[in-house]
Amino acid sequence: MDLINKKNLIIAGPCSVESEEQIIETAIALKKSGKIDILRGGIWKPRTNPGSFEGIGVKGLSWMDQARKETGLPFGVEVATDKHVENALNFDANLLWIGARTSVNPFSVQMIADSLKGTDQTILIKNPVNPDIKLWIGAIERFQKAGITKIGLIHRGFSSYGNTEFRNNPLWQIPIEMKRLFPELPMICDPSHICGKKDTLSLIAQKSIDLDYNGLMIETHINPKNALTDKEQQITPNELIQLLNNLTLKSTKSENNHFEKELNKLREQIDFYDDELLSLISNRMNIAKKIGEIKNQNEITVLQSNRWNEILNRTIDKSEKLNLGKSFIRKYMEAIHLESIRIQNEDY
Ligand code: PEP
Ligand code: MN
Repeated sequence: MDLINKKNLIIAGPCSVESEEQIIETAIALKKSGKIDILRGGIWKPRTNPGSFEGIGVKGLSWMDQARKETGLPFGVEVATDKHVENALNFDANLLWIGARTSVNPFSVQMIADSLKGTDQTILIKNPVNPDIKLWIGAIERFQKAGITKIGLIHRGFSSYGNTEFRNNPLWQIPIEMKRLFPELPMICDPSHICGKKDTLSLIAQKSIDLDYNGLMIETHINPKNALTDKEQQITPNELIQLLNNLTLKSTKSENNHFEKELNKLREQIDFYDDELLSLISNRMNIAKKIGEIKNQNEITVLQSNRWNEILNRTIDKSEKLNLGKSFIRKYMEAIHLESIRIQNEDY
């Protein structure tokens, strides 16, 4: 079994490798817990602003190697160029990952994929910084075409403008779609870069377990207050162990017959309601089509903003009484309305 094909895989270690003592002390504390599979550390740091600490460079690799010798933990580093790959392979890095600022750039991804040709290296691909699922898929395809088979994905969230709840918005629908498209690729959650702070890490980690992810990558530093990068989000090895102990692990299947029966009964009801919804939506669209025809005969615009406003207010008011999320019903009604407009425009 290869390195990343394990349920509840835990990758931990500092955002950046800063000194030999720091990485070895961190590795020893992590190893002691018996819960960590792979040690991570950034050697080359892609930073948003120039002048910030940009990584310790190649000497960090020999420190990672030393940490591996002392603890037996395999190690992984981020690579962004073919030169990084060459250096990492010289030190037999067990795992490479490409960061969110790299997977966004097809030239860089191709360069890294080409430099891995002929190896059986394990590579994890972080989602690109922007919510462009095609870029993420394209990156996977570039590695697959280069003959790399040990591929996994890391969900680290997507950047957005202004102050938001998360450093990087999780947009769970994107990794969920990736899991559907690539069920054979392990999906790892990186709560550190999603949250950007410590207090919500466990919430996001638990959510990823509930969504049947394969593991976690969490930034861990022996002394987070003095970390040179991402100090707000790094936790100590002890805090990490506590966090892991408090998670509820979940399985996809149950041995419990009663549970399976109950679940199947409820699922039959869901299928029934899905069929009902589809036929109701079809009826609604048929009426919209008729409205489109008479609007056209009378030379009336398809879009009637006042009417749309009325529909939206009425349905949102009603949704509150039915305990349905306001923003969900807004999105749902917007999708229905757009489709109605498309149908009304179709034949003319
Ligand atoms: C990192 O893992 O330290 C890192 C730079 O992450 P990302 O590419 O997700 O920003
Ligand atoms: Mn980081």
